[in-house]
Amino acid sequence: MATECLNGIVIGYSDYRDNDRMLTLFTVERGRVDCKARNCRKPTAPLLACAQPFVYGEYTVFFSGDRGTVNSCDVRESFYSLREDPDRFMIASCAARFCLSAAEPDTPNEALFSLLYHTLSFLAYTEGEPKDLLCGFLMHFLDRIGYRPALTHCGVCHRDVRNDPILFFSTQAGGTVCAACPHGGKPVNRITLEAMRRILLLPDEELIRIKLPDKIRSEMLNLLLPLLNDIFGENDRSTMILAQLI
Ligand SMILES: [Zn+2]
Repeated sequence: MATECLNGIVIGYSDYRDNDRMLTLFTVERGRVDCKARNCRKPTAPLLACAQPFVYGEYTVFFSGDRGTVNSCDVRESFYSLREDPDRFMIASCAARFCLSAAEPDTPNEALFSLLYHTLSFLAYTEGEPKDLLCGFLMHFLDRIGYRPALTHCGVCHRDVRNDPILFFSTQAGGTVCAACPHGGKPVNRITLEAMRRILLLPDEELIRIKLPDKIRSEMLNLLLPLLNDIFGENDRSTMILAQLI
């Protein structure tokens, strides 16, 4: 039995009994942590504010075995405005859900935590096109869970394809494929590939700089969805939300 201080973001929850909630936190220290927040749904509850979606806080969690219960929380960011804008709420939900699908207990992933934190911050506090932030999140998300798509080389013959005039994109090949290689992919605009490469060069603090033309943004999201379906399945909540967004 021990009490731990965990810096975490609420990436999921489910209500149980009359006033309780099971929170899924994505924490810096432990990765995914499921913990109870008792009585947090009463209007005057001390834990009311920290048991909301996307809240970032310092949670004091009491562990008995592998079961955690939130004792208290110091809320650092509520990202409250996300709850007032349905479009931004959906995109934040999509990002949080992908982290939930990828994060595992006792497996810290500080790089992924940073990506989620910055994505939620920009969604909540800036005016940028939210789907550009979604593109930025998804590209870096794939990179940080070990599924960076092939963008500069053919996924089949591994030749540098940056000057090839005709290219394809295939989930099976893990990204770009040259015209000479067999593939089941579809033609891809070279500008979209270049945009994907440049997005991966941006540090988290600069993701807000992503500004994509509609056509490029749309093509990018339509290339990324099958890749993510391949990893998580098309019936995962994360990919289902993404499919609704594009
Ligand atoms: Zn090739």
